[in-house]
Parts: sequence; C-alpha cells; structure tokens
Amino acid sequence: MHSSHVQAADSPIPDASCAHASERERVCSSTPGPRGWRVVLEVAGFITPVATVITLGCAQPEPGVDFRDARLAVVDMHLHQGEWQGVPGSTQEFLASRFPFPFNLNPEQTASGILSAEGVVAELDAAGISRGVLLAVYAPRSVGVATNEDMVEQVAVAPDRLWGLASLRVDDWSAGGEAQLAQLDEMVQAPGVVGVKLAHTHMHFRMDDPRYFGIYEVAGLRQKPVYLHTGPSPFPGTNAEPPYTDPAFLEAAIAAYPETIFILGHVGYDFINKQLGYFETCVTLAQKYPNVYLEPSALGSEGSDPTGEHLPHIMGRIREAGLVERTIYGSDGPQSPGFVGDYLARTTAAMESTGYTVEEARAVLSGNFARVFQVEEPTL
Ligand SMILES: [Zn+2]
Repeated sequence: MHSSHVQAADSPIPDASCAHASERERVCSSTPGPRGWRVVLEVAGFITPVATVITLGCAQPEPGVDFRDARLAVVDMHLHQGEWQGVPGSTQEFLASRFPFPFNLNPEQTASGILSAEGVVAELDAAGISRGVLLAVYAPRSVGVATNEDMVEQVAVAPDRLWGLASLRVDDWSAGGEAQLAQLDEMVQAPGVVGVKLAHTHMHFRMDDPRYFGIYEVAGLRQKPVYLHTGPSPFPGTNAEPPYTDPAFLEAAIAAYPETIFILGHVGYDFINKQLGYFETCVTLAQKYPNVYLEPSALGSEGSDPTGEHLPHIMGRIREAGLVERTIYGSDGPQSPGFVGDYLARTTAAMESTGYTVEEARAVLSGNFARVFQVEEPTL
C-alpha cells in the first residue's frame, strides 16, 4: 500500500485535522463536532478508504496560502471520490488490515460512507484552497472503481468549487473499446469535466500500446488534458513493470498527439522504494515536448518522503530545468483530515526553500492549471 496512506491510517484520528493543520492560523473549538465517519481515499491512483472525522471543529482560514509576501489562490488538481463496494476483495483486505483499531473490526461499516463533495469541500476550506478536481477511476483489478457518473454528480454539488476528470474501462478493449471511447467523448463534455484520468499500472494497459491511442485522440480533439499516473504503486493487483510505470514508454503517444496535453502524475516517483524513480525521465520528456506537464502529488507526504528531501529536490530541479510553467499542483487527497492542507504547506515550503518567486509559485498553484485546462483562474 502507498505508505502515505499507512501513515494516514496510523494517525490518531480525532485530532488529526488540527494537529496536521498548516502553519496558518487555525483555531479549534473546544467541542469538535464530528459529523460522522466517512471514507477518505486514494493515493497514487488507488482508492484507500480510511476512517476519519470531518473537520468541523476548526475555524476556516481565509482563502489562499501565504507565499513570501503574497497570498496566493490555489487549485488542487488531484482529489478522490469512491466507494468501498467499488474496491476488489483483495485490496479491501489489504486496506482493512491497515485501518486502526477499532475500525478494522468492521471495515465495511467504517468505509460505508462515501467521500462526498461536501467532505472534499470542507477539506479545501480548511486548507484555504479555492478549487479542487475529483477523479473518476476504473481499475477493477487493483484499486477499484469510482464511476464517471458519481464524479459528475459530486462535481455538480459544488460546481463553483469542483471540477472533474473522466476515465474509462480498458479491461475488455477488443470488444468494448469503441463504446468506451464514445462514452469518454461524451463524459468529457459533461458540465464541470475538464480532462481525462488514466493509470496504466492500475488499469493494466501498456503505455506504448497503440490500440489505446484513441484515448489521446479523443482528449486532443476535445482539448481535454490527460492526467496519467506514472511510477510504481505497490497495491495488490497493479502491474509495476516498466511498460506500465516508466513514462519513457509514453513517448510514442506524446509524439503522435502533439495537440494532447499529457500530465505526468507523481512525476514518476517510486512509491515502493520511496525513491525518485522515473523523475528525470519526466523532466527530459517535458523539456523535449511542449505538450508534457508535471504533477508532484503524494510523493512529498510524511509517509512517502520520510526524510523530507524528495519534494524540495523535485521542486528545485523543476525550476532549474526551466519547467515551472509546466508544473501543476495536486495533493492526492483527501486521505485524512488535514492532509490536503498539510501537503500544500509542504509544497509551498519546498518552493520557498528552492528560490521560487511569487509569480512562479502562483503559476504552479493556480495559473498553469487555469491555462492548460482553459478555465478561469481563481482569485482571492
Ligand atoms: Zn490519486
């Protein structure tokens, strides 16, 4: 399992929202008001139910995040929704074994709540984040299914705060591929849907398999960027072989579809060994192809970057490589109360320590997203 999830699951739950609050002012009431347990999800592309308490006890900070002498609006492009019933049995067992006592006694009940739009927005509010993006997931053999329909429904609950990325099934491609592509074409035109989400390692299709290139064609024609999980992700039922994880195998598709934006999720980070993995390959691809973007979510969490060295290294290297304008912020939350805000604090700290200007930080936190996804940049 993704280590940051383990970390989240091992955290003392009731006070986590306040304990993990970012450096900004946050005040907790003396009577936290947990509204109930809910499922929090995913990391590195898979759905991870973890019992948590909604963070109603804390006062909301002002929107935005402090960076040097400025306050900046933020978009989090990587958030999850999902249901326990959508997770395969082997992964349910795997995840349940990591639920803290007493939630491990009845994992289904623990996870029976759905990560709702309301819950996500509460996490965004607590972190001062203006808008977030919910991902659909179709990975029945590994991390499970969070349907396009659910994603669209949740986005519609808070259309001024949420956007969505659609996905599709690839597990019966020879028989159902055409229908899946037609559905994807329809879904990316649904209200609030701004792009496409893929995870080859979870969905079991090679990055260089031309039979699936129609996905990139649809995305390019509709001008909807494609977010792709890159790097190894150690869940039951994933495929960690290089053709499924190494972004070098995406080069043929990147070159063949110059009108399609490819966002390399997790910048190739190796979540199994907690190493940089294929990060330099991502840098090389982004330097070579103007349609390649980078997204450094999850890898800098407490569990995945225990020494705290990797996220600053990655943000510094991105700047040095001239790729600030190609980098889009995401957390891979919500995971646990306060994670969304904590990841933002880690990322802004990494940018400050590696010399980002206010304008560069603004580009990463909101400007690049707005430009690439052709939406209005949030203002404070
Ligand atoms: Zn994810």
